[in-house]
Amino acid sequence: MNEALQSTYVGCPYCGESIEVVIEVLDESYEYIEDCQVCCRPIVFHVEISWSGEPTLSVRSENELF
Ligand SMILES: [Zn+2]
Repeated sequence: MNEALQSTYVGCPYCGESIEVVIEVLDESYEYIEDCQVCCRPIVFHVEISWSGEPTLSVRSENELF
């Protein structure tokens, strides 16, 4: 099993604060929701895994789902 963790910084879509997140590098793209450490609102994290296995993290607010 080839599991890797990568830590990175993203800007919260609500409060704009830089927060550190640890993402899991999996075989395929995935999404999860985690509360902002600063404003405690739910951030939707989308991790896109490229063909070379490089993760690209993007975030959006939960409201944009609806
Ligand atoms: Zn925030």
